[in-house]
Amino acid sequence: MRVYNFSPGPSMLPLPVLEKAAAEMCDANGTGQSVMEMSHRSAAYKPIIEKAEVLLRNLMEIPSNYRVLFLQGGASLQFSMIPLNLAMSKEQAKGPDGAKRKITLIDTGIWAQKAAEEGAKYTEVNISASSKDKAYTYIPNAPAPGADDAYYHITWNNTIVGTKWADIPDTGSVPLVTDISSSILSEPLDVSRFGLIYAGAQKNLGPAGVTVVIIREDLIGHAPAWVPAMLRYDIHNKEGSLYNTPPCYAIYMVGLVLEWLKALGGTEAIAGINRKKAALLYDYLETSKMFYSPVEKKYRSLMNIPFVPREDDAERKAAIEKRFVSESAAVGLMNLAGHRLVGGMRASIYNAMPEDGVKALISFMEKFEKS
Ligand code: PMP
Repeated sequence: MRVYNFSPGPSMLPLPVLEKAAAEMCDANGTGQSVMEMSHRSAAYKPIIEKAEVLLRNLMEIPSNYRVLFLQGGASLQFSMIPLNLAMSKEQAKGPDGAKRKITLIDTGIWAQKAAEEGAKYTEVNISASSKDKAYTYIPNAPAPGADDAYYHITWNNTIVGTKWADIPDTGSVPLVTDISSSILSEPLDVSRFGLIYAGAQKNLGPAGVTVVIIREDLIGHAPAWVPAMLRYDIHNKEGSLYNTPPCYAIYMVGLVLEWLKALGGTEAIAGINRKKAALLYDYLETSKMFYSPVEKKYRSLMNIPFVPREDDAERKAAIEKRFVSESAAVGLMNLAGHRLVGGMRASIYNAMPEDGVKALISFMEKFEKS
């Protein structure tokens, strides 16, 4: 029996995608080999990586002056690559301790903080707004960037606390950079408003191992010479993501997921499905006497939905949470514990989570509440 996996990532993949991958496991496209066995420079592999890029461009309506890179190191490596490539002009940067340019970053939780911490190793990070005062349950107003900022960083969807930006901030000529790891392709997003967009694959795109970077062409080529080859956008761009061996199989899986999404009707169609799924759960939480959503309505994520018991006594609250997580797992509703740093519960309902999974969760919550 397949379970409903509410994990924040790696998370569920669409069943037809897994079935197609299984059918092609030992012989992909009549090549007599698995994609795992193919040389990344072979004629058999070339159409696979090309297809993934074409589909992504098509689904996200990526303008022609943007490059798509398939990289490794997770979204976490982008916390370093972005400042190394965008925040140091060739003249200024002598090394990690050399002269620095400034960036502005909005603190909306742990992933934004990690981007800030890594960035601060290479550049000056100005955290111009934060929602820490209310445990990150909202998105703060975004102050205008500094005129000299190399870029302006926001985390579009905050996986742990379940918030999402309601509007794209206007940063004028300062490139806007965003982490969309936990919301890529969940609804339409105007790529042209951003300088750089990045996402780890393991939530909405495919298995872990590949990270997508969408970067405006004019932002490529600014890394100082000492930045290692593997961390340079100019090299990965010049080599078409084939500077070294890429995560070939993960890229193939991304292609299958994108094909599935296209057949479903693309981002408009999935956005409708996602809004419906999220509304089912949020509406239930509004009426529940036992659980509530701590997130301000305007900023609620469609993908990650935390909920907490209405219980002030810490011990009783912890007991409810423990019982909820173990009893839900016993009926095939997996990984509903909140992030280890914030507690509570959290349902991650990415593109591949069927509506029936959300309904099964709500029905379990109703029974749990009664018992
Ligand atoms: N950013 C966000 C918003 C995330 O949710 C995560 C992972 N959960 C990361 C960054 C880190 O991604 P990775 O594990 O691919 O480095």
